[in-house]
Amino acid sequence: MICNHYNFVKMDKIGAYLSKHEIKPSLQRLKIFEFLYNNKNHPTVDSIYTALSPAIPTLSKTTVYNTLKLFISKGIIRSIHIEDHEVRYDADTIPHGHFKCIGCGGLFDFPFDHHLQLQTNLAGFQITEEHFYLKGYCKLCGAN
Ligand SMILES: [Zn+2]
Ligand SMILES: [Zn+2]
Repeated sequence: MICNHYNFVKMDKIGAYLSKHEIKPSLQRLKIFEFLYNNKNHPTVDSIYTALSPAIPTLSKTTVYNTLKLFISKGIIRSIHIEDHEVRYDADTIPHGHFKCIGCGGLFDFPFDHHLQLQTNLAGFQITEEHFYLKGYCKLCGAN
């Protein structure tokens, strides 16, 4: 569950990173981005809220949700809709695929670059969103 194919944001640079993407860096926004950056297991709104609310008592789930929506609209995070009942979030915007284990529920990243095929097969089409999902059993669950 580790995205190790990017490392472009230094922790002390998050404020500048948000500003660069036209996001006013409030404390809550900084903390939410920092959490996403440090937790590459694709957290949900609930898990972000649960993790941050002890340190930020003024935080609400609505704020978390709206902040994530803002981040998505500015292109600095992506949402993952691999299941109907849960949305997860990813600070890794470099195209990669997700593998969902139906055994343990883990969501794994894998490098995946299909742009060459798309340029050929969808020449002239404008892609505004892309998702590549696989489901199955991870190495640990498949062994049982
Ligand atoms: Zn598993
Ligand atoms: Zn990912």
